[in-house]
Amino acid sequence: MKIEKINISENRAEVIISNAEVHFLNAFRRTLLIDVPKMAIDKVEIHLGAISDETGRTYESTTPLFDEIIAHRLGMVPVPTDGEALLNDHLKPEAECDCANAGCQNCQVMFSLNKRGPATVYSGDLEPLGDEKLKPKDPKIPIVKLTEDEGILIYAIAHLGTGKMHARWQAVHAAGYRPIPEITINQKKVNDPESVVDNCPSGVYEISKKSLNAKNPETCILCRTCEHEDISGKDAIKVNANTSRYFFKFETDGAVDPKTAIIYALRVLEARYSDFQESLEEMK
Ligand SMILES: [Zn+2]
Repeated sequence: MKIEKINISENRAEVIISNAEVHFLNAFRRTLLIDVPKMAIDKVEIHLGAISDETGRTYESTTPLFDEIIAHRLGMVPVPTDGEALLNDHLKPEAECDCANAGCQNCQVMFSLNKRGPATVYSGDLEPLGDEKLKPKDPKIPIVKLTEDEGILIYAIAHLGTGKMHARWQAVHAAGYRPIPEITINQKKVNDPESVVDNCPSGVYEISKKSLNAKNPETCILCRTCEHEDISGKDAIKVNANTSRYFFKFETDGAVDPKTAIIYALRVLEARYSDFQESLEEMK
């Protein structure tokens, strides 16, 4: 199996996987979704009683939403997760950390949130205690609106988890793949190259040096419009989807970078397959 990079940005990956079978791609997709860990807020302490500001003015610690809803919304805010620490196994789930649930930098990140109305509380109002790099990358996720004299004071703790446990720990989203077809063009039989370019809905073709060229086969959606006699000419184009090359794409919520997610998921699969192989050998 080979993975070629097409485009990997901060929270999106597009790669070509060749020499792979569909069952492997599906295992890879599912592993990305449920086994790549990330940090997410799962403990929230909401201050009760009056909140005073520097001028001595007091605010009621009430909001229009139930505390549970605010806690849930904070849990779904993507918290940056150090990819290097994740791959080096320095970050650990709370239960597996050497600190024995005391809480340390390997297993938790603490945040504070202190805001007074009238205002909208956003994810960007979460202040990490310690490294500023741990501030949520998307600062504009609304949490709650505060009116005059309302205030909110929260301490929140993020721990490491996976999508298997709860959606708040799902780092990878919208993972999917499609085959990249082999497109054979018989130039002599192509009647109208421009009609092929114009009728392809996904921009596969271009005209280069007066001949038709399948420039972007990875964008093909297998609609087979180009194979039609009226579009290209009789037997002019053949689209063969039975290949072992696939276009694979996914997004992350910004907590984990896509390259870390790919490496982590492949390691999980490798360990799982070798466990399976060992069990098979024991049965012999
Ligand atoms: Zn710890």
